[in-house]
Amino acid sequence: MAATAKAPRIKALVAGNWKMNGLKASKKELAGLARRLAKGGRPACDVLVCPPATLVSLLKDEARGTRIAIGAQDCHAAASGAHTGDISAEMLKDAGAGFVIVGHSERRADHGETDAQVRAKAEAAWRAGLVAIVCIGETEAQRDAGETLKVIRSQLSGSLPKAATAKTTVIAYEPVWAIGTGRTPTSADVAKVHAAIRAALVKRYGAEGAAMRILYGGSVKPSNAAELMAVPNVNGALVGGASLKAEDFYGIISAYIKG
Ligand code: PEP
Repeated sequence: MAATAKAPRIKALVAGNWKMNGLKASKKELAGLARRLAKGGRPACDVLVCPPATLVSLLKDEARGTRIAIGAQDCHAAASGAHTGDISAEMLKDAGAGFVIVGHSERRADHGETDAQVRAKAEAAWRAGLVAIVCIGETEAQRDAGETLKVIRSQLSGSLPKAATAKTTVIAYEPVWAIGTGRTPTSADVAKVHAAIRAALVKRYGAEGAAMRILYGGSVKPSNAAELMAVPNVNGALVGGASLKAEDFYGIISAYIKG
């Protein structure tokens, strides 16, 4: 593949992952975010909220006519069948999702999801017409052992299907030790890992890899968003805790509002 692909302009994506939080009343947070986005300057990024599956349809209705897209947090690899409690990518699409997160470290840890399963879920997302947000990231022990780049490269090659394109796929680099802890890597560390991800993507996918969005995730908040989002090869954020409150999430999106 062409390792010399020129760096294209990439529109950033700021995505909120509500995890297992939110009831019907939480639609007021989405409405609050929509109001802030309508009043403030136009952000130079796309905005996405991924609520629990129970709220996808409700929030899709609430988001109509706003700048907010709605996504989901996981899908089964099959389109339908005897999988009690699971939800397919087709069902999420039908409910109004445009994106789905796959391979989040909490799914890898809590449900033992492997790279191969994550890859199958990404393919399922495309089959249903969803964009797959594929998460990768090292644990603290792996980081301390100096294995970050090795882990990242291995997760990328195992979790990303061969046919990934910049339109169908987003990468989220989330160091596991930074998720929900208030700790973040230094900007220099983020730059090093994102550069390695970009190099791996370009090597495997050529121009598509050069254009693929690479999000940073892990304790992003209004106070550190501008610095993290300014790091080369950081094309947006995947945000957990700080996406639950409209004001905080807007504070992060503000990193992409000029003036
Ligand atoms: C996440 O779980 O995707 C995440 C980034 O969480 P937090 O922002 O709370 O660290």
